[in-house]
Amino acid sequence: MKVRILGAHQFELKGARLTSLLIDGTLAIDAGGITSALSQTQQKKIKTVLLTHHHFDHTRDLVTLAANASYYWQGQLEVYALRYTLDVVTPCLLDGKMYVNFLEYPSKEEPALLLEAIEPYKRKAIAGYDVLALPAKHSVPAVGYQITSSDGKSLFYTGDTTVGISDCWQHISPQLLITEVTGPNKRGDWLEKVGHFSARLLKEELTQFRRVKGYLPRVIVIHIGNPFEREIKEEVAQVAQELEADISLGYEDMKVTL
Ligand SMILES: [Zn+2]
Ligand SMILES: [Zn+2]
Repeated sequence: MKVRILGAHQFELKGARLTSLLIDGTLAIDAGGITSALSQTQQKKIKTVLLTHHHFDHTRDLVTLAANASYYWQGQLEVYALRYTLDVVTPCLLDGKMYVNFLEYPSKEEPALLLEAIEPYKRKAIAGYDVLALPAKHSVPAVGYQITSSDGKSLFYTGDTTVGISDCWQHISPQLLITEVTGPNKRGDWLEKVGHFSARLLKEELTQFRRVKGYLPRVIVIHIGNPFEREIKEEVAQVAQELEADISLGYEDMKVTL
């Protein structure tokens, strides 16, 4: 399994894209920074997008990717998310008020986007992978995804979340955990309130992970709050040292092979 981090940041700037992952070139998770990261040929290979939640920084490239798919290569994308997420994204981005109605364009029979609801705790075969969505703890309904390939490699991506997701750990056994740290420890209380991790809050969850599973996988941190990147990097390094674990910050175009 080849994992590429397309976007690793909370805010978009030159060189910093919004959250998106790409698995084996074909399966995208979250749609914050897909089209600005990939060539037309690379975008064309994407058949499926999984959304963790509806926030704009995770969904807006549904529009730009659907536009490219319908104008450049007449392709179709399957989009999976919670029913709640789809019910927000549809009237806010996709149904023609903001731009083109990609649920009916280029044609009602073959639209650029096909939306399908997923249910937490139910394994589903999607795009050749075993996909398991598990509830995350964010300011809006959100899920994380375990993606397992046919050769048994798996990653878990929490999406945006804060403490309180340790129930997830008993359901998964990933070789790679991709999660978030949005701000520094000094803003921990506020981050928890708005559904994000600081390094210290992440440490609590990773400690639970190790207690439940007996190991800690490699951990990559994304959704990095750009203004605090240096502080976050130092604080994450501190946690890695305390837990004696492999925890590091992700970055745009980082590639990991499982
Ligand atoms: Zn969010
Ligand atoms: Zn976000």
